[in-house]
Amino acid sequence: MSPARRKAFRLGELDVAPGRSGTGELPIARLVTGTVISLPVQVFHGRKDGHTVWLSAAVHGDEINGVEIIRRVTSGLDARTMSGTVIAVPIVNVHGFLNGDRYLPDRRDLNRSFPGSPTGSLAARIANLFMSEIVSRCDVGIDLHTGSDHRTNLPQIRADLDDPETRKLAEAFGPPLMLHAKIRDGSLRGAATEQGSTVLLYEGGEALRFDGEALSIGVAGIRRVLAALDMVDDDDDDPRPVPVESRRSYWVRARRSGIALIDCELGEVVRRGQLLGVIHDSVGRRLSQVNATQSGVIIGRVQQPLVNQGDALIHIAEVGADDLPMLGQYVSTTTSATPSSQDHQ
Ligand SMILES: [Zn+2]
Repeated sequence: MSPARRKAFRLGELDVAPGRSGTGELPIARLVTGTVISLPVQVFHGRKDGHTVWLSAAVHGDEINGVEIIRRVTSGLDARTMSGTVIAVPIVNVHGFLNGDRYLPDRRDLNRSFPGSPTGSLAARIANLFMSEIVSRCDVGIDLHTGSDHRTNLPQIRADLDDPETRKLAEAFGPPLMLHAKIRDGSLRGAATEQGSTVLLYEGGEALRFDGEALSIGVAGIRRVLAALDMVDDDDDDPRPVPVESRRSYWVRARRSGIALIDCELGEVVRRGQLLGVIHDSVGRRLSQVNATQSGVIIGRVQQPLVNQGDALIHIAEVGADDLPMLGQYVSTTTSATPSSQDHQ
């Protein structure tokens, strides 16, 4: 098809000509006060044919890192020189975003409500809207998340690494680590994969915070994926990072309730049994140690020191010994700051 004959892209009330971009809104529902709540969307419709990719963030309303990642990515897009189409949906869970809350007002998790339904709960209706208006138009999607519940995550891609196309895009993204992750029932990634889309889930940083490293890795990664799909020029002169791959991950959980002093960092390589922190009671008695249950790389950790027995404290990804040097700047083998394993009562 010649560039001149490429059709305009219609999304809701938006009608975006080839080589142009546009912003609009997809109405969801009214607030109790009567204010209309809608999904903000931005479309970049390239002059030339190509892939159609969605970028989504804040499916969990308090995970705002991705909102800024999308802003930075779209500020660098030019529909006049692009191929294909990018649909940016920076805030999917608008209700949660307004409230600084992961969930919807009825406490439903939007990312367990896909593919949704037009007559179900509010979460189901938003999921259904997203599936019918966005996912159905796209062959690739990148969904941006952060750690939840006062936890922070090492920048990482979670995806079905056994699918060749997904793996190719995950490698193009070039995060420090990519984790093979099974589909979760009700997730956007699961429902969109079911419909035939190739989906990457990016995790980095923590809720309600901007994390500089997670932002820059996310922006560069999306840009590289768009370049790998031949939608934008590859203007990244830096050597492409080679991600470390992990097939399994483990949570270290609190053995006792108390005040946790966690002394390990994201990206740190740890050995099974290594002391990663201690839990005290309110008058300073040591209740328990926090030890690595497996060897691997720390890809997530709790930030909030008040923990209940069973709380997930530290997330460790199993990686091959050969892969460890590739974690580069994230690897810290310095353990001198860690409390000595002899130091217990
Ligand atoms: Zn999330």
